[in-house]
Amino acid sequence: MTAHTPLRPLWLCRACAAPWPCGSARVTLLREHAQDRVALLVYLGGLLHGAADELHTFNPHGGPEPGQLCDRFLGWALIQRT
Ligand SMILES: [Zn+2]
Repeated sequence: MTAHTPLRPLWLCRACAAPWPCGSARVTLLREHAQDRVALLVYLGGLLHGAADELHTFNPHGGPEPGQLCDRFLGWALIQRT
């Protein structure tokens, strides 16, 4: 069984080919970091930095916007306050 990990430098999921982190990867990451959301955000921030570099190098004129990447890598993991 293939893990839902990123295929770099495309940053697509190895298992389901969705933009990484896919839904399954998000569930796994949340489970692995259930006790430390800050560590998850730091980890994702590092990946976001690498993804921004690689996606821009790979596709300098048609890659995702920085705001889109931020939502994709970090937005879903932020703690929601009501
Ligand atoms: Zn996946």
